[in-house]
Amino acid sequence: MQIPQFDIAFTHATLLTANAAQPELRDATIAIADGRIAWIGQTLPEHAQCKRVVDASGKVITPGFVNVHTHSILTMVRGVAADLGFAPSYTPGIPKGTQVTPEQARVLARLGALEALMFGSTLIGDNFVCADATTEAMAELGMRLTPSWRIHDVDFGKVTEGRWEYSADIGHTLLQAGLDLADRWQSHPLVDVQLAAHAVDTCSDDFLREIAAISSERGLRVNTHLGQSKVEVERVLARTGKSSTEVLDSVGLLNDRLLCGHCIYVGDEDIVRLANAGAHVVHIPKCNATSGRLAPIHRLKQAGANIALATDTQHGDMVELMRWALMTARVQQGGVNDDWQPHHVFHMATLGGAAAVGQADRIGSLETGKAADLVMFDFRKPHLTPHTNPLGTLVHTGQGRDVEMVLVNGEILVENGMPTRVDMGEVCAEAEQVCQSLWNNV
Ligand SMILES: [Zn+2]
Repeated sequence: MQIPQFDIAFTHATLLTANAAQPELRDATIAIADGRIAWIGQTLPEHAQCKRVVDASGKVITPGFVNVHTHSILTMVRGVAADLGFAPSYTPGIPKGTQVTPEQARVLARLGALEALMFGSTLIGDNFVCADATTEAMAELGMRLTPSWRIHDVDFGKVTEGRWEYSADIGHTLLQAGLDLADRWQSHPLVDVQLAAHAVDTCSDDFLREIAAISSERGLRVNTHLGQSKVEVERVLARTGKSSTEVLDSVGLLNDRLLCGHCIYVGDEDIVRLANAGAHVVHIPKCNATSGRLAPIHRLKQAGANIALATDTQHGDMVELMRWALMTARVQQGGVNDDWQPHHVFHMATLGGAAAVGQADRIGSLETGKAADLVMFDFRKPHLTPHTNPLGTLVHTGQGRDVEMVLVNGEILVENGMPTRVDMGEVCAEAEQVCQSLWNNV
């Protein structure tokens, strides 16, 4: 008889699995071997040997959250940019990506990624400048990444002055940087590089066509900002006579490898087009609401589009974000109904995200055989008591700060709420210094 061997087992846990066949298990055991979930049951199998057993009484274990659209470097404008305009890259008077050195980018990326990890994101889809430096810094934390270099052929320096001028030189330099990033990380088990066509207004039609051809040839996923602002919609309409969604379709980008961030300004025809193409909607409710807008998310959901969640430039707390997704949809719907319940937003934060990054077969739910990306919350707290309906409680009153442990691929990256690979105080102090120098030079 073969004796089951596990690296770590959690016993007496409440499991919120995100697996529709068995969404909740109480007083259960989940065990991990070789980076994978090897066992889920009420107790451990007979004669099992575990290197470590964690008594998870009073704890709730969920899949790791999949946060598909972040810009860790933009932690540099925290506390200011949210009150100025709709997106930092278009807003004058604040530090810009183009001013950040690779070393500063490394420090800021570590801050943003660490924050997301400590709040339970096991994958972030980070996109911005200096992606070679930031990907390295984020990978050091041990988390799963779908990084991308911000690619556009507009001269961003002139956009804040109201001029959209396209340069083949800018486009090709950035596209090459994006492809070099993909080459460099090709064989890394936790990193899957995407191409980031920044937005339809900041990429010319020809350039978008080129990105589409490369995406299809190399099977690389593409992320973009779609219908993010009225400025984008007006610029694109004036330039092409089409909506941004129509342009994406006409250049060959609208397919199931595309992740569309925001989707605020999309019309009924765009919604049908998006859903039919299998493109993924990246819902960013907190960031959108902060700038006074919301995506027509119910219509996108009704059309059958896969929906993932992302924190974008807001702080990386996916627990709080699930609440924003639920509450803003209810405000739009004018009440509580069966279409918007905690399990819907939990799905978006886990399996929906996993599907968007093309990894639903590997991550996004607690199922044997999947990677051991999981988050343990300590529910022995006043705001998380009673445990009548743990998912409802997590979505309505939980916080990223309630995360006690985070594992990615079976490795413990957060324990007792603190990172295991880096010194949190050092990460914050370094980032504080970088931000002060960037703000001093605005
Ligand atoms: Zn964004």
